[in-house]
Amino acid sequence: HEQLLMQSEKLKVVGEMAAGLAHEIRNPMTVISGFIQMMNADETFQYKTYTKLIETEIDRINLIISEFLVLSKPQKEQYKKFAINQVIESTLELFSLQISQRNINVKLKTNNTNSYIEGSYNQIKQVFINLIKNALEAVDDNGRIDIEFRNDDRHVYIFIKDNGVGIPEHIIERIFEPFFTTKEHGTGLGMVITNKIIQEHKGVLKIHSQEKIGTEILVKIPSVEVNDAIIQ
Ligand code: ADP
Ligand code: MG
Repeated sequence: HEQLLMQSEKLKVVGEMAAGLAHEIRNPMTVISGFIQMMNADETFQYKTYTKLIETEIDRINLIISEFLVLSKPQKEQYKKFAINQVIESTLELFSLQISQRNINVKLKTNNTNSYIEGSYNQIKQVFINLIKNALEAVDDNGRIDIEFRNDDRHVYIFIKDNGVGIPEHIIERIFEPFFTTKEHGTGLGMVITNKIIQEHKGVLKIHSQEKIGTEILVKIPSVEVNDAIIQ
């Protein structure tokens, strides 16, 4: 037991150091990125092919850093009560352009009762950003994504179902490993972050997937009673 505790302390320290480092890397990256953009803007510059490449690689580093920072954020953020439906609606707005451009059929099925949970609004939003992003990356243009809410007296259940590529059975265990990705431009951090946040909210994540048929993700989170009078 003590050894386990030491292990988790160690992980915590390493995590904090890495988070600090990630912050420090961002500043020089901004400088580099600024000059690269300047070179790209110059019509006569002969190494554009390379600077364009550098630019996309910088974007990639920034993506990894920002996902990593989510992962290593201090545990306790401000917890508050909020309606889960609302988080998902505002998450969908972030992807609305892509959804319409690729003609993805997104259906939102609510049960019309507002279900409230207690937690970090931003982290829970991050969960749905990650899951909807994965669904969008899994489906072809004209694909479909169904999102459904259910609740009983103690939990809210959110189902996110896509008709995309699906996850082969031998891979399903690995998708929670940091940096495991099957995508050319993936970071392999989305599911790790998602799982961590859900666990911190005493929730559960379940996956049903079939290769070439699609994937269904269930997020189950404890709900809280809310006095409607205080909610605007
Ligand atoms: P990334 O999206 O950067 O690859 P994630 O941690 O979000 O990292 O996902 C890890 C892997 O899990 C993905 O590379 C993919 O193989 C698989 N995966 C996750 N969600 C889905 C989905 N909805 N459909 C198909 N595969 C998925
Ligand atoms: Mg992802």
